[in-house]
Amino acid sequence: MTMQFRSSASAALAAAVLLAVAAVQPLSAQSIADRYRADANRIIDAALKDSTAWNRLAEMTEKFGNRLSGTPALEQTIDWVIAKMKEDGLQNVRGERVMVPVWVRGAESAQLVSPRAQNLPMLGLGGSIATPPGGITADVFVVSSFSELTSKAAQAAGKIVLFDAPFTSYGETVQYRARGAVAAAQAGAVAALVRSVTPFSMRTPHTGGMFYDSTVRRIPAAAITVEDAQMLHRLQDRGERVRVKLMMTAHTLPDAPSRNVMGEIVGAEKPGEVVVFGGHIDSWDVGRGAMDDGGGVVVAWEAVKLLQRLGLKPRRTIRVVGWTNEENGGRGGQGYRDAHKADIDKHVMAIESDGGVFKPQGFSFTGSDAAFDVLKQIGTLLDRIEAGAIVKGGGGSDIAPIMALGVPGLGLNVDGTKYFWYHHTEADTIEKLDAHEMALCVATMAVMAYIVADMPDPLPRAPVTR
Ligand SMILES: [Zn+2]
Repeated sequence: MTMQFRSSASAALAAAVLLAVAAVQPLSAQSIADRYRADANRIIDAALKDSTAWNRLAEMTEKFGNRLSGTPALEQTIDWVIAKMKEDGLQNVRGERVMVPVWVRGAESAQLVSPRAQNLPMLGLGGSIATPPGGITADVFVVSSFSELTSKAAQAAGKIVLFDAPFTSYGETVQYRARGAVAAAQAGAVAALVRSVTPFSMRTPHTGGMFYDSTVRRIPAAAITVEDAQMLHRLQDRGERVRVKLMMTAHTLPDAPSRNVMGEIVGAEKPGEVVVFGGHIDSWDVGRGAMDDGGGVVVAWEAVKLLQRLGLKPRRTIRVVGWTNEENGGRGGQGYRDAHKADIDKHVMAIESDGGVFKPQGFSFTGSDAAFDVLKQIGTLLDRIEAGAIVKGGGGSDIAPIMALGVPGLGLNVDGTKYFWYHHTEADTIEKLDAHEMALCVATMAVMAYIVADMPDPLPRAPVTR
């Protein structure tokens, strides 16, 4: 009892001495972590008592459904975000016009016709052309890789080439979805099929963007499921004649207007300096775009609302943005850069969340070493929720255009174990997300954005060569 009293008394004395020292210490000598520890704790505590992020994402994605560029659903969602941001009391709420490509999937199907009849669940790839009206019925030639196709190109002529490439990483395996049609056409194929880009499948096809090349004939391209791709491969290996009928009516219409949607907390001292953060408001035309990327927009939006609710008004402006057309054009990110060219140097940082809003781990960063050191300090304030890991080499496709002009960029890192299970499928819906994990994302985004927007000195920049 006595010992305890004595030690707590001396601890209190030591704390008083420390406080006195801190009080006389110049602000510049105080670390960023010490300066913002109390604010960060308040933000985290408040975020974790709040499940409005999950509820708002559920409402948005279920009210409007998926949001492909050029659809009324996307523009209605943007109108709704603008109305809600105004209700929330955000400032400078607006949509900035951007012209976007319009790709229409239309009716489509794939059937195995030999060695037996079976429907093959499929999704045409975004940007693909249609088949002729009667469809394409042809033998299938299955390969595991581009190099296998190159070495056996003679066998691909006149056939439907199927790339049955096992998932390694998204960045690597997505090449078959993106460039498969060009490679197959170079070998004389009449259509390209790809195994869906995912590490795990419940016989669900995954769509996504693909590209043509002006040097080679355009052929239709679609994804089939992992299970069916592997089965067709095994049928071929057993010497069976594998024949498929592919029917697609996909087409591209003239560009249409869309908008980057945004709202702000205007900075108290340096309103012209901006921390911009968010995700993309468009999605593919399947599922409901909950994790790709409605969640990215909503966690940044809720982060701003949380700061507002706590009365934390930063020195600089925090702008939350839902970029449009990330999925099949990237016009939102480019349009943002073009609309803000004059004040790019006043963008102190850009943060993108486009990897799902699962349990956050931290951020990956591209910028100067001096800035990296500051962000690592901020990361220590997120360690209590295990979201403080700051690593090098981050960004995202929507902020890439302004990062190319020298704006330091951060990407939110989350537990990515399950993201690609649902990515670009009918299964991208809200139930796969957890309200607590989303609240952790809100806390992580809010702490980072607030501190960088409020620090006395702007985040140091790397010298840029333009
Ligand atoms: Zn995305």
